[in-house]
Amino acid sequence: MVIAQSKRLRQKHSTGLNVVDPEVYDLINREHQRQEDKIELIASANFVSRAVLEATGSILTNKVAEGYPGRRYFSGCEYIDKLENLAIARAKELFGAAYANLEPYTGSQANHAVYLTVLKPGDRILGMDLSHGGHLSHGAKFNMTGKNYDCHFYQVDPDTERLNYDRILAQAKDVRPKLIIAGASAYPRTIDFQRFREIADEVGAYLLADVAHISGLIAAELHPNPINHAHFVTTSTQKTLRGPRSGMILLGEHSAPEFARKIDSAVFPGVQGAVHMHAIAAKAVMLKEAMSPSFATYQRQTLENTRVIAEDLVKKDFRLVSGGTDNHLILLDLSEKGITGKEAEELLASVGITVNKNMLPYDSQKPSVCGGIRIGTSAITTRGFTSEDMHCIADLIEKVLSGKPTAITLKTVQEEVSRLCRLHPHIDSIYGEGETN
Ligand SMILES: *Cc1c(COP(=O)(O)O)cnc(C)c1O
Repeated sequence: MVIAQSKRLRQKHSTGLNVVDPEVYDLINREHQRQEDKIELIASANFVSRAVLEATGSILTNKVAEGYPGRRYFSGCEYIDKLENLAIARAKELFGAAYANLEPYTGSQANHAVYLTVLKPGDRILGMDLSHGGHLSHGAKFNMTGKNYDCHFYQVDPDTERLNYDRILAQAKDVRPKLIIAGASAYPRTIDFQRFREIADEVGAYLLADVAHISGLIAAELHPNPINHAHFVTTSTQKTLRGPRSGMILLGEHSAPEFARKIDSAVFPGVQGAVHMHAIAAKAVMLKEAMSPSFATYQRQTLENTRVIAEDLVKKDFRLVSGGTDNHLILLDLSEKGITGKEAEELLASVGITVNKNMLPYDSQKPSVCGGIRIGTSAITTRGFTSEDMHCIADLIEKVLSGKPTAITLKTVQEEVSRLCRLHPHIDSIYGEGETN
């Protein structure tokens, strides 16, 4: 290649996104503005710190590596080995684990690796019913798990809408699963992992604690830690833990000797290929942040904010599944309000409040419609929303969902949403230029 041509190609490679691809650049900017202007109440959403974002967007994305620190299939791994070891050490320290695997691309992949470790196709698993708060990767029929394994589901108690451990034990004795999964995407109450382990032991099953939603609370010691009870602990890292979109597997002292190597090979080469080193770096940063006192303060405020919204909504005559919440989310049953989850989601979106429709236990609506919505405060608490703001948000939700809101009401609510967002500017002030100190 002639020198001039090679220089041109390199120049092209160093041209900014706005010039190379204005369409993508524009869509990112619009999404940026959406994140700034809307009240984000999706329970699995959060805003990463600038440091986590920097690591995610770093040159580590260029590094190819397969395998584990000290046992790679490619060379040039001297720095990324240190990085992955650092992340592993932090994860073990934060969660009191004897083993940590930081390579799973997502929480779902982490679960698949656990299944590959202990299950054969056709084996029985017992997880939480999707419409009662469980997750797709726990055996849903349109998920890989539902196709590969014989999946059975426990539900919440029809009276209390909480887990009824005696009923789960009875069902486990009946089903005789090889693996029991404890963990949920839409369960507002504390989970008793010790009790789950007793059930698993009684029927000779392994126990997987999937703490995708509550790992941030666990890190801050605001929810019991399953590490010394469950054989396997998996989590997403982008939810309450406030890290990159990724996953993690942890083992306690009691199970690491038997399963550490097996989990390693289930993740790679079992269900994944090369490591996402930029995500590993971002997880290392996330873990460092999660060890700080300010992270515990943040999680306590999240719980407080959720409690305030929950109590206000109950006072305003909304029905909450299980009557309230112990964690970062609530489930609102809208069946008595004459509005479906889908309609509520759309109405709230029209005024700048982002939630998701959600199935309720024993829901009479279809999954595409849903009888309720799920509301979480992790993201807005990161933004700095206070308990005072929660009273405002509960008022806004009432205005939109109780009775038929007029166009004028919707307009006022929208203005109030904008006011609250301006009160707590986030995206620009956290990620904007000139803020690095
Ligand atoms: C979110 C979630 C997961 C994993 O989701 P990913 O999007 O794959 O990270 C797994 N289990 C539960 C209970 C979840 O809520």
